[in-house]
Amino acid sequence: MVRSILIIIGILIILPAFGQAEGIEISDSNFVRRINEETGLDSIIQNYLQEIDSNNIRSYMQGLVDFKTRFMLADNRKDIALWLAEKFESFGYDNVVIDSFQNAIEFPLNSGEYKKSWQYNVKAVLPGRVDSNKVYLLGAHYDCFIMGPGTDPYTYAPGANNNASGVAASLEIARIFKQKNFRPKYSIYFMAFGSEEFMTMFKEGRSGSDNFVSDFARTGKTIAMMIDNNQIAYSPKGEEWRLDFQNCPGSAEVTELAHYLCGRYTKIVPYDTSDHINYTDAYFFWKAGYPTIFFEEFHFCPYTFTDKDIIGNCNLSYCREATKISFVLLLYSNY
Ligand SMILES: [Zn+2]
Repeated sequence: MVRSILIIIGILIILPAFGQAEGIEISDSNFVRRINEETGLDSIIQNYLQEIDSNNIRSYMQGLVDFKTRFMLADNRKDIALWLAEKFESFGYDNVVIDSFQNAIEFPLNSGEYKKSWQYNVKAVLPGRVDSNKVYLLGAHYDCFIMGPGTDPYTYAPGANNNASGVAASLEIARIFKQKNFRPKYSIYFMAFGSEEFMTMFKEGRSGSDNFVSDFARTGKTIAMMIDNNQIAYSPKGEEWRLDFQNCPGSAEVTELAHYLCGRYTKIVPYDTSDHINYTDAYFFWKAGYPTIFFEEFHFCPYTFTDKDIIGNCNLSYCREATKISFVLLLYSNY
C-alpha cells in the first residue's frame, strides 16, 4: 500500500521532469543537449560498459564472503579494510586511504552491554582534471549482519548480496576506469563504508558514512553526486530486471539523469520509490544536502541477514546490469 502510493507520487515527480525540462534546473550536465552535441560519446560509453565482467564481480564478492563474517564487531574488520585497500591498489590506485573512527553499540541488542570499537572506511580517488574539489562519490557498505535462531554474527555472516554486491560494483567500476586511464573532469571517490548495519543505533560515535560526511564538510570541497549501491544482486529467475531507484527529495536532477542513462544504456527497468532512503549510507549525504541516489534490488532479498545470503542465491547478470547505471552516471558526468 505504502509502496503504491509512493509509485504514484514518484511518477508525478519524475514524469514532468523528463523530456520537457521546464522548471527543472540541470546545473552542470544539461544532459539532453550534451549528448546530442557530443557525437561519439555514445560509442565511448558502450565501450566502457562492455568491460564490466560478471566474473570479476563474482570474484570480489567471493573475496568478501571468504572472510566468513563481516560483522562490525568481529575481530577481522581491519583485515577486511586492508583487503579492500589492496584491491584498489592492485588496479593502480596509489592514494588509497583507510580512515579509522570509533563508535559504541549495544550488543547483543537490548542487553545493556555496550561494545566500543575501531571501525574503518576505505577510500580510493581518481582526481579531477578540471576541478578536483568537486566530488562524484560511489559508495557501498562492506559490513554485514545475521540474525535469528542458531546464528552468531561473530562467526558467520556471508552477506553476499548485502552488501558484497554493492562493494563489488564499486571495485569493478574502479578497475575499468584505471585500466582505461580515465581522467575524470571532477574527482571520483570510491568509498567502502564500515559499520552501516547499525547506522542510527550508536550510543557513541557514528556509522562510516556519517563520519565521512561530517569530516568531508570541513574540507571545503563539495559533492556533486552521491551514488549508493546496497543490495543489487537479487532478482528471482524469470522476473524482469527491475531495480529500485530510491529517490531522495531534492535530488531530482540526479534521478532524472539516472532514468535517462538507464533507459539508454541498460536493460534495467527502474522503479521509483523512496521507502528505504533512511536505511542506508546514502541517508547522511542526502541529509547534508548533497544530490543523492540509492540503488537497491526491486525484489528485496528474502535471505537478507540469514546464512543463505550467499553467492549461489545472487543473480550476477542482473548485478552486472545494475552496476552499469552507477558506471554510466559517473562516466557521463565526468567525461
Ligand atoms: Zn545493506
